[in-house]
Amino acid sequence: MTFRFPFLDLAKVNAPYETGMKEAASRVIASGRYIGGQEVTEFNATLAGLCNAPYAVGVSNGLDALRLILEGYKQIGRLNDGDEVIVPANTYIASVLAVSHAGLKPILADPDITTMNLSAESIKRHLTERTKAIMPVHLYGRVAWDDDMRLICEEKSLLVIEDAAQAIGAEATVDGLFDSRMAGAIGHAGALSFYPTKNIGALGDAGAIVTHDARLAEAITALANYGSDHRYHNIYRGFNCRLDPIQAAMLNIKLADINNINRQRRLNAEAYDSGIGNPLIIKPKISPDNVWHQYVVRLQGNSRDRFRKFMTNNGVETDIHYATPPYRQPCYINKFQDSFAVSDLLAYEIVSLPISSATTLDDISQISEIINRFK
Ligand SMILES: *Cc1c(COP(=O)(O)O)cnc(C)c1O
Repeated sequence: MTFRFPFLDLAKVNAPYETGMKEAASRVIASGRYIGGQEVTEFNATLAGLCNAPYAVGVSNGLDALRLILEGYKQIGRLNDGDEVIVPANTYIASVLAVSHAGLKPILADPDITTMNLSAESIKRHLTERTKAIMPVHLYGRVAWDDDMRLICEEKSLLVIEDAAQAIGAEATVDGLFDSRMAGAIGHAGALSFYPTKNIGALGDAGAIVTHDARLAEAITALANYGSDHRYHNIYRGFNCRLDPIQAAMLNIKLADINNINRQRRLNAEAYDSGIGNPLIIKPKISPDNVWHQYVVRLQGNSRDRFRKFMTNNGVETDIHYATPPYRQPCYINKFQDSFAVSDLLAYEIVSLPISSATTLDDISQISEIINRFK
């Protein structure tokens, strides 16, 4: 089925960069260097600058970025097997998988219903003596950070490991733990994803970590390269999680345009906010700390599926992020004791509308008119 308003047309998203990307690909081909090298070095420097963090390390994907941060903290003695990490219950499953993979214990916390993010209140409900870290997920592009969260983390000396996969370029409205307010660099370390659908997407898998911690950056660089600190010398039992230079080259082209990409998404969100006037639709709050990876509305009662059908019939493709929370997935079923009322409610009510940089303000105005006709 083809939609007049597709949810996300990736070819259209990448079309403005096609010439630059082809030139960059040719450069990589001609360089004869297909692991590491100049493109990766440039990518790391650009990303560190963008996030206002001293260190950035490109890696294979967002899940590996999260896992490498946790493994890195274990190698440098800041985390130990079985330590508890608080993660929002409504996140994409990768956040939870990374904690499991690292031999740590994911503790799921129900999100705040309005921000759909972790809050100080939800963290407090799950703190124990074994809590060693929190993983705020800046879900849908909205920064999950405020003064109350910062106070808890400072008071309890918790590591703050951000899942910033959806929030590149987002800026918190209050200070982080160090001297950056940029998503990924608010806490001790953060993971970014460049999966093709993200605000900055590669032509395949890619990810990165950013951190204020020199020892962690060093440990991750080694862990991602077989645990090798120099050639044929392995200090850790590491992995192969390097960023490919061909992807770094693609990302270097797109990173140069991040402000335009995020500006377009912000304008789109504001256009929905002023365009949608249907009382059946609960809109997300507009705030300056959001780069709008998704524009997620809620439909109460049993109207969500009827709404999606109505939108489909009117040529608008919608999606759900995410219909099945991690704790209801077969791989985690019955592994978490708590119940997650807010997360369950959200999974039942949420709908994502088209918002990418390939969606125009004219599209948004037409989609809003269609939404306003829904009864
Ligand atoms: C995309 C995503 C990830 C994983 O990133 P990949 O690059 O796909 O491995 C992790 N967390 C969140 C919240 C994501 O949206």
